[in-house]
Amino acid sequence: MTEPVIHGEGVVMTLGEGEARVNALKGVDLAVHTGELTLLMGPSGSGKTTLLSILGCVLTPSSGVITVAGQKTHHLSSEALAAMRRAQIGFVFQSYHLFPTLTAQENVELVLDVRGERGASARKRARDSLAAVGIEHKAAVLPGRLSGGEQQRVAIERALVGNPSIILADEPTAALDSENGHAVMEVLAGVAKERAVMAVTHDPRTLPFADRIVRIEDGKIIGEERPRSE
Ligand code: ADP
Ligand code: MG
Repeated sequence: MTEPVIHGEGVVMTLGEGEARVNALKGVDLAVHTGELTLLMGPSGSGKTTLLSILGCVLTPSSGVITVAGQKTHHLSSEALAAMRRAQIGFVFQSYHLFPTLTAQENVELVLDVRGERGASARKRARDSLAAVGIEHKAAVLPGRLSGGEQQRVAIERALVGNPSIILADEPTAALDSENGHAVMEVLAGVAKERAVMAVTHDPRTLPFADRIVRIEDGKIIGEERPRSE
């Protein structure tokens, strides 16, 4: 087993105030490894998005330690955390989060622009990344004219183009029909050959793609399995 890319230890998260206080995570230990597609499965409200956000250093846990690429995060400044996120972590969301007024290619190029890569080389990289998921011919199309599956593939390439070591995806197939959901899971499974991928889901159609399935309920990990090695 490789060193984990992200490791959460003793993660506790309390959300809300007063009467509305919720113990969203009640002491979670979870490591995510390179070369695996890990599915985090559990019912609505079980703490999946909260855990994903904490592992991705978007939320700070109430207590617990997060280690990303060998570095503990709890002493980092917000600037250092943001730099670590940019370098190590790519996010994919159920609702794609593409800019509606930018073409598919421009959505990917924008990420390169933020990283200081512009001009012909950025255009070529964005184009190549769309080709890698079979939608090069949609490069000049606005998101509103793409299918959900095509939009999600653009979003995955946008997450990948900065070369992160881990992709965290929150319900990436929830808005997709089975054909598009299948295509998106194939892309994520391919990405997981060389990186760590963790997808939060309650979509049983994603199960055949998993190297590892971790189950969460009511803020606690209740078990895990490795379907391919059984
Ligand atoms: P899941 O993604 O598994 O559906 P979440 O991580 O979104 O679950 O939520 C876990 C629990 O925390 C739920 O009970 C939810 O209502 C609660 N929760 C999530 N975000 C907040 C928030 N910002 N304030 C208060 N409670 C929250
Ligand atoms: Mg959620």
